[in-house]
Parts: sequence; C-alpha cells; structure tokens
Amino acid sequence: MENSVSQDLFGKACKIIPGGVNSPVRACRSVGCDPVFIVKGEGASVFDADGNEYIDFVCSWGPMILGHAHPSTVAALGEAAKAGTSFGAPTPSEIDLAAMVVEAVPSIEKVRFVNSGTEATMSAVRLARGYTGRNVVVKFDGCYHGHADSFLVKAGSGVLTLGIPGSPGVPEDIVKNTISIPYNNEEILEKTLRDENLDIACVIIEPVAGNMGCVIPRDGFLKKLRELTRELGIVLIFDEVITGFRLSYGGAQEYFDVIPDLTCLGKIIGGGLPVGAYGGRAEIMNYIAPDGPVYQAGTLSGNPLAMAAGRATLELLQRPGFYGELEEKSAGFAEKLMDVAEKTGMEVRLNRVGSLMTSFFTANDVFDFESAMKADTERYACHYRQMLSRGIYLAPSQFEVAFISAAQSKNDLDKAVKMTEWSFKKLL
Ligand code: PLP
Repeated sequence: MENSVSQDLFGKACKIIPGGVNSPVRACRSVGCDPVFIVKGEGASVFDADGNEYIDFVCSWGPMILGHAHPSTVAALGEAAKAGTSFGAPTPSEIDLAAMVVEAVPSIEKVRFVNSGTEATMSAVRLARGYTGRNVVVKFDGCYHGHADSFLVKAGSGVLTLGIPGSPGVPEDIVKNTISIPYNNEEILEKTLRDENLDIACVIIEPVAGNMGCVIPRDGFLKKLRELTRELGIVLIFDEVITGFRLSYGGAQEYFDVIPDLTCLGKIIGGGLPVGAYGGRAEIMNYIAPDGPVYQAGTLSGNPLAMAAGRATLELLQRPGFYGELEEKSAGFAEKLMDVAEKTGMEVRLNRVGSLMTSFFTANDVFDFESAMKADTERYACHYRQMLSRGIYLAPSQFEVAFISAAQSKNDLDKAVKMTEWSFKKLL
C-alpha cells in the first residue's frame, strides 16, 4: 500500500509537533510503524493522504458511533456555524443538550458541560473532594480517566501502551492521594474502602474498562461497589466517557442497573467535536460555582457547535431499535472472529460488551490489568500492520477497544473477518 504522502507529512509534523502527534498513541510506536494521516471520513471508512481507504474500528476512539460525516451532524454543524461559533455566554443549545442528557442518564439531575473527558473527570473528582471534605481518590489499575495529575497512577490507554507507570511532572504529594487497586477484586475493594486510616472522597471507575483493552466487570462487582460506597459515604463516580450512550442510551449504569452519584461523559455526546460533561444528583452538583464553593469554568464550555453536533447525534440514537441492531451486529461479528480463531488455532480471548470489544492475543481470561498484560503485544503489532495493509484500521495498541459503528455494513464486517483470517494464518 502506497504511503509516501503520509510519510512525508509525518516527517514535517515531527519537526514541529512533539512525536509528530497531538496525542501519544497516535504515533503508533507500540505497533512499530509510522501513522497514516487521515484526510477524510465517510460512513464506516476513513481515507488517508495517499488515497487509501480503511474500514475504521477506531471511530475517533469512540465518538463516531454513527460513522463519519453523518449528514445530520454535518447539517446541524453548518446551521450552528452560520449563527456564530462561540459567545462565552449562555445559549439555548446548552439547555437542549443538557435536557437530553438529564433525561437519558439515570444518575444525572444536573449536568455541566466542559471540553474534554479529562476535564470532566478532573472536575468530578474536585467536586467529590469538595463535597465530602476528604482527599483520597480510589481508582482501578489499568483504567484511564484522562491525563489530569490525580489519574496518572497505574493508568491505562497511552500510559499503559507506552509503558509509563506514572508521569514525571506529577508531584508525589498528589500521587499519594490516589490509590489504585485491581479491577474485579471484591476482597481488595472492600478492605481498601473500609480502611479507617484512609480519607476516601471518591471511587472512580470505568464501568466497562476500555483502556486496558475491553475488560468487563464480573457479575456483582459494580453492585458491591455501589453498596460499599453508599454505606461508607464515599462518592461513586462512573467514568462513562466511553460507555455513555454506547452500551445503551442510558450508558453502562442503565445497562448494568447500578446508579452512581456522579457520571462523567465525553466522546459520543459531542458528535465528534471536543466535549465532556459531568453530572449527578442536584444535591452534589449544587456545590459547583456559582451556586457552591467548588470552582470550575471554561471559555469554550457548552460551545454551540459541540452542542449542535451532540444533539444531532443523540437524536439519531433515540431511534427505537438502534442499540438492539448494534448489539446484534456486534455479536455476529464477534462470533465470526471467534470462529476464525478456532479454525486457525490462534490463541485469542475476545472480550465484548455491546459494540465494544478487544481480541487479546492470549490463552488466558482477561479480567484485570495483570491478566491483560499477559497478551502478546508483539503479535498484536504484527497483526495491526497486516490489517492496515489490507484496509482495516484498528487501534494502534493491544490495550484499546475496537468500536463498532452503526455505519459499518455486513459487508464491511465480513471483510474485516476475512482479513483477520488471512492475518492470523500469516502470524502462525
Ligand atoms: N475517561 C475515559 C474512560 C477515556 O477513555 C478517556 C479518553 O479516552 C478519558 C476519560 C479522557 O477523555 P479526553 O481524551 O477527551 O480528555
């Protein structure tokens, strides 16, 4: 596959942008190649600067659940842009999207829009600390909640992919207030939360972990977490930046019927524009300025373009049958991939919930960070490059999820299955 234009662009980018990218995993280092530069997206496909077409399983890391350049989103954006792109003042579009979020997400009575998932989680933690008057944040090994200081302790996503245990620049004083424990381990969870020496303000969790690859909560784990946090007066935060409006219209909390105190959103609610949000019970949300003392602000927060794209997206997700169809399509795809693994004899564990999935190159169950780390990353890197060469755009890391979008047709998924079979055979 020709890629000289991408190569040339990457060379130019590296001279003026650190690593040539504006987010580290995009550099593709863990899969041993240089990135392709995307110039266009249309439905299920993205196109690179050399004119190659790929079926896209990255979906901008989650937001593009409807596929690329959906006509409704594009039209809504055009309309909004004509009226002006930012005012730094309240606009009706914020109320429209807020009302949709409040109606959809069971835990949310009030919501505040920000500009990224990182801002959402960072603000939710500050709010939980302000509300409880306590300091310690409990998180789970391999979960990723954005790049704010408190979260860069045994984090997933790029931090994991690049093998950085934490990050220089994050002071010890901050790290000591973050405790990271294993995912899916009720015993350690209970022992930690009941430790009276710890001043725990909140627990933050990805209700389905998506940043160490797809790791699914064991039966009862989220319920246990809810019971313990309620009993101990600890604020429970669901980071639904990936799972929100993806697993169901009401997110993972609706899917698993476990309702947190605060919820963080991002990705899908911006329809591909930069956005985040955090919300919860009014009693807690009223602690935020200007009603309460906890400060949080943003020049572009509630930006009219992001609100318009978000609204256009959520309107389409409300269509009856939308999530059922996505589930059916994803289940069928996963089944075919497992058949391929069996037929070829490839050792693969496929974890899937709804339209989120990861094929781990390992023979073991993957249920936490330790087990995810047993996956063969060299083999994944080779698989990645082979799939890319045949027009399948996967995440450039073993420890990420594949996103299925509504735009992917049966033909697209069948092509991906066929290429997977070809790639697995070549790998063995
Ligand atoms: N939380 C989760 C679960 C995420 O997956 C991400 C990003 O991938 C974030 C938070 C941070 O969001 P953003 O990259 O928009 O800052």
